[in-house]
Amino acid sequence: MTATAGKVNLLDLDRRDLEGLFVALGEKPFRATQIMKWIYHERVTDFAAMTNLSKALRERLAECAEIRPPEVVLDHASRDGSHKWLIRLDSGNSIETVFIPEPDRGTLCVSSQIGCPLDCSFCATAQQGFNRNLTVAEIIGQVWQASRLLGERRNGDRIITNIVLMGMGEPLLNFEAVVKAMDLMQDDLGFGISKRRVTLSTAGVVPALYRLREVAEVSLAVSLHAPDDALRNELVPLNRKYPIAELLAACRHYIANKPHRRITWEYVLLDGVNDSEEQARALAALIEDIPSKVNLIPFNPFPNTRYRRSGPAAIARFQAVLMAHDLTAVTRKTRGDDIAAACGQLAGQVQARGRRLVRIAPFAG
Ligand code: SAH
Repeated sequence: MTATAGKVNLLDLDRRDLEGLFVALGEKPFRATQIMKWIYHERVTDFAAMTNLSKALRERLAECAEIRPPEVVLDHASRDGSHKWLIRLDSGNSIETVFIPEPDRGTLCVSSQIGCPLDCSFCATAQQGFNRNLTVAEIIGQVWQASRLLGERRNGDRIITNIVLMGMGEPLLNFEAVVKAMDLMQDDLGFGISKRRVTLSTAGVVPALYRLREVAEVSLAVSLHAPDDALRNELVPLNRKYPIAELLAACRHYIANKPHRRITWEYVLLDGVNDSEEQARALAALIEDIPSKVNLIPFNPFPNTRYRRSGPAAIARFQAVLMAHDLTAVTRKTRGDDIAAACGQLAGQVQARGRRLVRIAPFAG
């Protein structure tokens, strides 16, 4: 998003940053509380309307700051109540955000990068290449806009109860911004979503997983997709850098000494590729000692893909093998497929700047 020159976008700042800003302006840190309520509870973006701040402070803020969420340019509504919003960023780039209502919850699926550098062979986002990381404002701004467009009221029922970082991009390759944005999702003065209901999904950036445990408290979903390194190298090229054994060790560590925590494993079912009974047994053996839930995702096709969705019988068989090993395994219902809002179908518009794995900067967090 293009920031106005010289102005700080307050959506880029978490509570601590805002307190620092007010102190720098010669104000008391509790001004951060007031302004967060305006931004996230009242959804006010105009400083002039913030009547509990002095006129002098409002004018000062208008000079040096702005509250600028990214711009929603399209709202696709699915027959099943899902929404997919196209959000325009700078210079020809856009991202997608998806809302999925279910009887007992409303899940918002948020993007973390413009495109994705990981190049997983079965994912539509990978085809788009990679442009850049999203800013904090662009990540939390997706929640801000969805909440506004869904008509959430401060004292009404919550519409967005869960947030998953499962949209475009690999969140752990945008570590600092993603952690700050998740903090704003969970902060009572932000969106106040309960800790466990914010889930980060990763293809397995192992060093970042160790770091994440230290700085955030979120649920973890891991895109596994294969029970052995040879196949996973092919489907998720990041596996060549962080093979399955290292990934599993990081996952065990992530939930160690955290009762009631478990890992959600995502496993996209590709016909004849990773959906045999033998592969189901191998998967069960891998994760048997880890508190787990397996999300089986029937492959969602996109143009020019070489993969096909597994048939219903193969899906049922795969699930039955996992359950026979006492694993919780659910087959994810495909939602929003009439608007290409399902897993792996998010594309937006990406001005690619290189898509190969070798171009990922080493994790520096
Ligand atoms: N990079 C992160 C976040 C993206 S999450 C990650 O890999 O976890 C998107 C989820 O949808 C991942 O589990 C991904 O593997 C899955 N997915 C990607 N393409 C898909 C497709 N075509 N059909 C079904 N699921 C897909």
